[in-house]
Amino acid sequence: MSTAQPAVLIDQEELAARIADLAREIRQDSPSGQLHFVCVLKGAFLFLGDLIRAMEGHVTIDFMACSSYGAGTTSSGEVRLSKDLDSGLEGRDVIIVEDIVDTGLTLHYLQEILLARGPRSLRTACLLSKPSRRKIDVKVDYVGFTIEDRFVVGYGLDYDEQYRNLPYIGVLA
Ligand code: 5GP
Repeated sequence: MSTAQPAVLIDQEELAARIADLAREIRQDSPSGQLHFVCVLKGAFLFLGDLIRAMEGHVTIDFMACSSYGAGTTSSGEVRLSKDLDSGLEGRDVIIVEDIVDTGLTLHYLQEILLARGPRSLRTACLLSKPSRRKIDVKVDYVGFTIEDRFVVGYGLDYDEQYRNLPYIGVLA
């Protein structure tokens, strides 16, 4: 386990302020009615928690997990569902909550399988996006922060399962 303390890229105050903006924006786009948030585990769990606490009105949540084959700091491009949702999506206004869009392959896969389940609407909120790394053109409706091609940790994001508990987004030296 590394003991290096990651350098701050996005601090707690910036995260809280931007997430409050995103919550307002998402709610404004659906002024009434229930929003159903699908959190992609594990990296998006803190983002989901803060996003829905900053949001007014009715919300429900569910969780799914997927993994791309291979370890380390790059993904291999093959995606596999490792935990499915508990309930169906038919007729619901669904927001996918993702930690980071890198190549876009994971999100593209998730959007395809969730759309096939018949939601009334399907949108995506990502805390972070690295557009320079895209391999596929994927639609992201709400982006917290656009960042350069650097491997980030903290605020739910890990390196080898470490650093998820950091309250900020950091970069390893
Ligand atoms: P994609 O399929 O878009 O290439 O990768 C998406 C997934 O790769 C993210 O949900 C996340 O789990 C992981 N990932 C991509 N970039 C980073 C990064 O900079 N840091 C961490 N911790 N995970 C990343």
